[in-house]
Amino acid sequence: MSGAFTRDLPTPASALAIGAHPDDVEFGSGGLLAKWAAAGCIVHHLICTDGSKGTWDVDADVSALALRRQHEQRAAARILCGPSAGEVRFLGRIDGELANDLATRSDVARVIRELQPEIVLGHDPWKRYRLHPDHREAGLLTCDGIVAARDPHFFPEHGIAHHRPERLLLWEADEPNHIEDVTETVDAKLAALHAHESQFESTMRAHDADELASFDTRIRGRLAELGRPHAVAAAEIFHLMTDL
Ligand SMILES: [Zn+2]
Repeated sequence: MSGAFTRDLPTPASALAIGAHPDDVEFGSGGLLAKWAAAGCIVHHLICTDGSKGTWDVDADVSALALRRQHEQRAAARILCGPSAGEVRFLGRIDGELANDLATRSDVARVIRELQPEIVLGHDPWKRYRLHPDHREAGLLTCDGIVAARDPHFFPEHGIAHHRPERLLLWEADEPNHIEDVTETVDAKLAALHAHESQFESTMRAHDADELASFDTRIRGRLAELGRPHAVAAAEIFHLMTDL
């Protein structure tokens, strides 16, 4: 199995990670981004929705929640990437209503053109039996946004040069073909996930320090499991596309 995988890309100069919601980037690729950031890669985040449905509290003030989640995402980016943290952009689409429409694709392509990342990361839109529509749509927006960003006749109203990233890494991959050793940055990934305090209950099933510790144990176990077939202590896996 491990023979079919490529392993450990060289550190790019810059990367853009595109998530549907605040915290998706850290779950999908936090270890890798922390590793690259430590080696000097500028890491940008683009979050497509406002995260306003990320609570089980039926009486929640959802606009306050959206604002809180922006703060949490910025804090997570700082924790993950330190001085290599780049921009954290928000498209502000309503949580649960993300669509790969032309206007949103234009917004994604514009961010890619403005930030000129060498590598883009995002959700695999072709992951089978995926329930959450935003993850599917964010994945499609990532792929289609790259095509629009790289070809000069898409969205000429942007008025900025086209940009072709060199590689695309899709997390939650339906057919993973690439592994990254994140042994040194598991702690940074967990620390960045902990910055998303509003998600402790609904996503991490944690009501207290003990339950947060068991969340950490689950994540550590998962990363170890992903690395085991490749003799890596902790890994994140992706579908790597190089011919963009
Ligand atoms: Zn999500």
